[in-house]
Amino acid sequence: MQDDLYREIILDHYRNPRHRGSVEDASGRLEATNPLCGDELTLTWRVADGRLEAIAFTGRGCSISQASASMMCDELQGLTASEALELGGRFRSMLTEDGSSEDIGDLEALQGVRAYPVRIKCALLAWSAMMQGLGGREAGREDG
Ligand code: ZN
Repeated sequence: MQDDLYREIILDHYRNPRHRGSVEDASGRLEATNPLCGDELTLTWRVADGRLEAIAFTGRGCSISQASASMMCDELQGLTASEALELGGRFRSMLTEDGSSEDIGDLEALQGVRAYPVRIKCALLAWSAMMQGLGGREAGREDG
């Protein structure tokens, strides 16, 4: 039994993914794969006035990777890039460094993944893509 891994909210996001699709007029787009599990994900987002006005994903893979992407998009919409990166850091810390699951909302449901190291990459797939995408954008310079 893996009740702690497949919590009801995770199954719900897997069966009824939120923010599935592609954002129009996207500010950024990133593809991510997890060869260990066969998960594939494409993330698109649009930033307006410094905030993530829209974020969406397409892809296929295991329930953990898809549910995590759906929950991530839910949580990130409306945040600033730095807030999104900060939340991503806390989420990653919860899974990989015994970090706190407080103030992390529904994402706490994914804490059970921590007990299954091979699935951590599944849960982090969308988050790593987001952090790479937003981090790169912030660090990048537009020299014309
Ligand atoms: Zn997976």
